[in-house]
Amino acid sequence: MHVPFFTFRDFPVGLQQRVEEALLTELRKNQLILGPSVTGFEQEFGRYLGGREVIGVGNGYDALVLSLRALGVGPGHDVVVPANGYIATINAVQQVGAKPVFAEPDSQTYNITAATVLPVLTPRTSVILPIHLYGQSCEMEELLHLCQSHNLKLVEDFAQAQGALYNGKPVGTFGKVNATSFYPTKNLGAVGDGGAVVTQDSGIASWVRQHHNYGQSRRYEYAQAGVNSRLDSLQAAVLSVKLSCLDVLNTERKRLAAIYQQALAGVGDLCLPWVVSTGTDHIYHLYVIRTSRRDALQEFLQKKDIQTLVHYPVPPHFQPAYRQLGYRRGDFPLTEELASTSLSLPLFPGMTELEQACVIEQIQHFFG
Ligand SMILES: *Cc1c(COP(=O)(O)O)cnc(C)c1O
Repeated sequence: MHVPFFTFRDFPVGLQQRVEEALLTELRKNQLILGPSVTGFEQEFGRYLGGREVIGVGNGYDALVLSLRALGVGPGHDVVVPANGYIATINAVQQVGAKPVFAEPDSQTYNITAATVLPVLTPRTSVILPIHLYGQSCEMEELLHLCQSHNLKLVEDFAQAQGALYNGKPVGTFGKVNATSFYPTKNLGAVGDGGAVVTQDSGIASWVRQHHNYGQSRRYEYAQAGVNSRLDSLQAAVLSVKLSCLDVLNTERKRLAAIYQQALAGVGDLCLPWVVSTGTDHIYHLYVIRTSRRDALQEFLQKKDIQTLVHYPVPPHFQPAYRQLGYRRGDFPLTEELASTSLSLPLFPGMTELEQACVIEQIQHFFG
């Protein structure tokens, strides 16, 4: 049986039609850039996040760059990022001229924590930039304390965790300014590129609002030299529809994860996602297991037509593009181990019982 790693299904039923209708309606409005649908979505997402200002931008990478620039981060600044994170986050730090400094993740959650960040702080550190990796919220309280005691700013990358909570509050609301992506496969995904900057600071919000649209303060008046990074209206219209279902979509992901969790417990040497500690939450953007036989398992599943992926097979400090950071093989043992043992299983809203049973059965069979 063919099991895709990810695909769009009509879940909850009717979503597909609502998305198609929203696109057509938007197209006919003929206000494709910075129209009322963009403002509408920004306000809805801001309300969802408990009253925040949201600025729609071109993609998640731009959201990160704009967030850092809004804080004045640049040359001479160190920014702490997860050693096992996604490349976009590290690249954004370099883009503004600052230096990415890597912290190892926690061995159970794969997220950076106050304990793993503390040893890498330098006199130049100005920002801690955690990623809520795979959809699991970081332990924010300790990270916030660390920021307070060292006079640092916190910027969340919540591209993989829209709707995940920490102590009952959605992630993306803890940092001074926060960034997310609406890349189609994210939990809140558009039908193309998109992203957003989120903040409670009205000064930062107005700076980003100007800067992302060429620095325009009024029509034909430019207060600063900005960039072009806008969320387009077609994406905003789709995102409004998807946002109305986000909690339902995340609940479905959690339900599927719980089935894996139960069926795969104790199978072979599998290490399953850490079942959430008090305060944190996991919305399973990715369901990542670990095994010392990762490559063999992936190949076995591929032969049975079950698609899996590895997030991420090569640690950032092994990448030629980041060699100048001066890190070496062995500097981040846990990150390196994760890269060789992690495997992401198929999990998406609308995945059928039969498909999931097939994945489980084949994994059990492999470890026989
Ligand atoms: C997807 C993602 C991004 C980048 O988003 P784009 O919209 O593709 O630029 C950044 N950080 C993390 C953690 C992501 O998962």
